Amino acid sequence: MTANSGVIVKKANTALVVNAVRSAGTMTIEEMATGTGLSRPTVVSIVRALESQRIIYRSGLAPAEVGRQPNLYAIDVTARFAIGIDIDGPPARLVLTDLTGAARHEAVWRLDNDATYEEILATLVHQVEQALRTAAINPQQVMGIGLGLPASVDVSSNRAVNLSRLEALRDAPIGEALHERTQIPVSVRNDAHLMALAEDSDKQEDYLYIAFRTGVGLAVVIDEKVFEGQTGNAGFIGHTTISPTGPLCACGMRGCLEAIVSKRAIVANYASAAGVDAPYDTILDLALHDGDHALLVLDDAARWFGLAIANLIKITDVYTVILGDLGCDETHPFFTAIAEAVAVNTATFLRRPPRLRAGRLSGAQFALGGAEFIIDQFFATPRLRLKADGG
Ligand SMILES: [Zn+2]
Repeated sequence: MTANSGVIVKKANTALVVNAVRSAGTMTIEEMATGTGLSRPTVVSIVRALESQRIIYRSGLAPAEVGRQPNLYAIDVTARFAIGIDIDGPPARLVLTDLTGAARHEAVWRLDNDATYEEILATLVHQVEQALRTAAINPQQVMGIGLGLPASVDVSSNRAVNLSRLEALRDAPIGEALHERTQIPVSVRNDAHLMALAEDSDKQEDYLYIAFRTGVGLAVVIDEKVFEGQTGNAGFIGHTTISPTGPLCACGMRGCLEAIVSKRAIVANYASAAGVDAPYDTILDLALHDGDHALLVLDDAARWFGLAIANLIKITDVYTVILGDLGCDETHPFFTAIAEAVAVNTATFLRRPPRLRAGRLSGAQFALGGAEFIIDQFFATPRLRLKADGG
């Protein structure tokens, strides 16, 4: 174990000051010193550095009963920006946000699952450039791009390792190439992991975030952090086997969860039951009206989905579940059927009632998690290591 270098201590102290000002809104130097426990000279030198980087600015004067009024400092929320990109395949979304996570530019488009690597890269570069142009900022002001892919990822090389669609991205240097072309650092992550960051939960409790999309993804959020696992891919639930004799999955295995219950599976099951093609959202609508086939297909999917969710609850002992990107609210028969199946399959082991709710993100908001990931890193306090005895 190594001791902390001066650079890390300085970064950690800077993060303390930035976070204190960020949560207070405005602060004087004295308040920063009291709030962080740092000495006044240390705070002054940090504030000078932050001012020169235009991260902190003098926002006014604090009231004083006697003598000179001290300066108040605030974070300049437009000092840095972040970009989030969410690729479900075909749906794709981008947001550019300021330091508070407020969107300055949004885009939604469709990305062909058979697109070549060069086409995918060109589309992403184009969308980033358009965002910069629209928001009138340059790449140097953007801290990073959080790129969510429907894949198991290698976070160290910023690549997708395994995908069941957008095959052209498999082991391709997409993070590195996008960085090179846009001059903005890129972090590639699993899409569900990023979506969970943007979902407005009550944050006080652990929860399971399930991304119900073309495939199915999961993030296990513990102590307000996404549990990453040893390789950054915890929660790869879409390709866990639910029925070994079930339908063939795009990954080559049989009976994976997402081969049985996902938007893509529901669309396919509806087409074979009803004899006509309909998009997922239409099937949800049909279930509300007369659609016999729609209701049956969704009911069947809900039974399997509820079983999978019940298994997750038993494995994690986490009872709060958010169903993201489901396309309907808690009153829809699909949602109520899922909730019922969860209740049935957890009944014998129930320690408390499972709490299911529909996710609140829609449209371009799905990309907010990528931006939030970048902002969190900016405000994160570097991990200080304890000096080992005698070391
Ligand atoms: Zn599979």
